[in-house]
Amino acid sequence: MLLLQEDMLQFVLAQARDSYPYEACGLLGGSDGRVLKVQPMRNIADDPRTRYVMDPEELLAAFQDFEANDWDLLAIYHSHPAGPSHPSETDIAESYYPDVVYLIISLAVRHAPKVTAWTIRDGQASPAVLQVITS
Ligand SMILES: [Zn+2]
Repeated sequence: MLLLQEDMLQFVLAQARDSYPYEACGLLGGSDGRVLKVQPMRNIADDPRTRYVMDPEELLAAFQDFEANDWDLLAIYHSHPAGPSHPSETDIAESYYPDVVYLIISLAVRHAPKVTAWTIRDGQASPAVLQVITS
């Protein structure tokens, strides 16, 4: 289960909206399943409308920051500007972290973004529990 504060969720949703029509992406760090840090990342994919690739230098800096603060990588999020809220075949093929939660923000209905949570293991995506908390 991933515990995410409402204001952090709103931050991620705003990033997804601001990045439209490109995919937004980022990392969530924390401990005991509770997110303590939202780290937006630059999407350097050649085709950012349908893919996301995190900037490797930013990724390294984020991992160092997490380690310095004793945070675990809890989740990886990205948006689907026009696609559904389940992982794409590419998302499944390029998921390298079996222990993290993958959050997908679908903006297919732009005034009503949909957020879903997944674990992806052995080429298989399964729903994960995302709990949004107010404090
Ligand atoms: Zn995707």
